[in-house]
Amino acid sequence: MVRLSRNQKMFGIGLGIGLLLLIRKTKGEKDEQEQIDRTKLTKDFSLWEFRQKNGNVQVPQMYIENARVLAKNLQVLRDYVNKPVNVSVYRTPEYNRSLPGAAKDSFHMKAFAADITIPGLTPVEVYSTIAFLIAIHVMTPGGIGWYKTHIHYDPRGTNVRWSKL
Ligand SMILES: [Zn+2]
Repeated sequence: MVRLSRNQKMFGIGLGIGLLLLIRKTKGEKDEQEQIDRTKLTKDFSLWEFRQKNGNVQVPQMYIENARVLAKNLQVLRDYVNKPVNVSVYRTPEYNRSLPGAAKDSFHMKAFAADITIPGLTPVEVYSTIAFLIAIHVMTPGGIGWYKTHIHYDPRGTNVRWSKL
């Protein structure tokens, strides 16, 4: 049997405690992350869905209020169509710059815009539904962009329309 000196024993205990603390800290950070993931913005939208999926980047704290306003509007659309609404919301400035054709000052960088697809609806159907819901004052006026694969919506407050087909 190997005899350990008192110093070696103390070192071993210290190392053990250090490791335990490290594990606890990592677990704490993970819990915090999962907490964010579960945060519901509305009945059907979570903050997790609004993250940048490329690289799994969470919406920064400073934009969570924007995300909430956006989610409220998307919930109106979701309730009206009664189908799942798939969204791509947050973009880091770096990621936004890497996308050809993305606006330099895109609202996506502030978690204040969604690129939307709804299974079973064509982009033009999504476009006209959002325009209709704005017209009857249940969604906030804003930008609606018509793309081949999706519809962009942002609740900027004034109506702007474009198509990039
Ligand atoms: Zn967009």
